[in-house]
Amino acid sequence: MALIVQKYGGTSVGNPERIKNVARRIARFQAQGHQVVVVVSAMSGETNKLIALAKEVQANPDPRELDMIMSTGEQVTIGLLAMALKDIGCAAKSYTGGQVKVLTDNTHTKARILSIDEANLRRDLDAGQVIVVAGFQGVDEEGNITTLGRGGSDTSGVALAAALKADECQIYTDVDGVYTTDPRVVPEARKLDTITFEEMLEMASLGSKVLQIRSVEFAGKYKVKLRVLSSFQDEGEGTLITVEEDKKMEQPIISGIAFNRDEAKLTVLGVPDTPGIAYQILGAIADANIDVDMIIQNVGHDGTTDFSFTVNRGDFAKAQAILETVKTTMGAREVTGDSKICKVSAVGVGMRSHPGVASKMFKALADEGINIKMISTSEIKISVVLDEKYLELAVRVLHRAFELDQ
Ligand code: ADP
Ligand code: ASP
Ligand code: MG
Repeated sequence: MALIVQKYGGTSVGNPERIKNVARRIARFQAQGHQVVVVVSAMSGETNKLIALAKEVQANPDPRELDMIMSTGEQVTIGLLAMALKDIGCAAKSYTGGQVKVLTDNTHTKARILSIDEANLRRDLDAGQVIVVAGFQGVDEEGNITTLGRGGSDTSGVALAAALKADECQIYTDVDGVYTTDPRVVPEARKLDTITFEEMLEMASLGSKVLQIRSVEFAGKYKVKLRVLSSFQDEGEGTLITVEEDKKMEQPIISGIAFNRDEAKLTVLGVPDTPGIAYQILGAIADANIDVDMIIQNVGHDGTTDFSFTVNRGDFAKAQAILETVKTTMGAREVTGDSKICKVSAVGVGMRSHPGVASKMFKALADEGINIKMISTSEIKISVVLDEKYLELAVRVLHRAFELDQ
């Protein structure tokens, strides 16, 4: 007998028929003698609808109240799924995050999980119940409802698996595993049987939203066996996220291409080239709680230099306003911005032992006439910032250049 945590995403529970399907899958696992804890997302589109509704009332929604509203999406699904399970004779009980007691910090809309009280769950599991938990939500110390950031049900699933020391955490979604890139953009993308935590972390942080990055961090930290599978297929092993690199196979140099449309670039031109520039510019940005991604400081000439960095597109206007103030204090010449950019990245642990990956990437893009605006590299990834209009082309070209379709 195994204890399995299964997480079903929005599309997988997108309508009553699909919810009934999910119930049948769960019942099969239970019939095999396993204990099952299920974590569900809101039905597809619901969270977006709730956010839009909130914005109709308050353009910049109050974070506490937004969490109150957004968390209702998942609450609907747990009720429906528990009913569907009972309807086919499977004892089940729904729990909100607060009822489990998924304790988080109080950072509304992007709270972090601090602890999970698994005692109640264990009691119900031992009594033969299927536990159905609302993903994406928790409560803070004072009982306020919090949410974990978009895509956060993945993290709820993994965190529950860690707390319960589950044998496996299965993430059921609308694709049958992790692919070499988003199969919606490149139909030739291939499913990976395994991917290392290290690579999956990079892929997730660079924009592959098949798993929320925190869920991968959590799984790595607490050694949760994590697998991505399709909720629409009965067969298949999905993709296993592994600690070890697969030594048996020849390691491909690149494992995947990730991309993110959600980027914007800011530049401060003509900054007096003196010590402390980076601190003055980025300190002000950090004080406003804005995350900075890539940073470039140009070589100075004539006593001045240019300083560029990228932020999340949602923070673009705010960052631009801050830089206007910084410009005046620093005596810089001009602030420019570009919110129509994207980031495309090649990821692979095999890169460590293979020089020339970057030049191959740059050549492939140059051959298509795609101009690179910024570059950043680490041991296992190379990212480029491009004009947004080249995103699909660049992803396809790189996928082919690194022979990921073979
Ligand atoms: P869910 O609602 O189940 O959480 P998501 O939409 O959050 O599903 O994530 C699944 C989607 O992630 C897929 O439909 C796919 O378009 C996208 N995706 C992006 N990159 C990848 C990748 N490398 N492999 C698989 N899917 C990916
Ligand atoms: N429903 C939430 C969202 O759309 C959480 C999730 O789906 O994981 O972001
Ligand atoms: Mg998701």
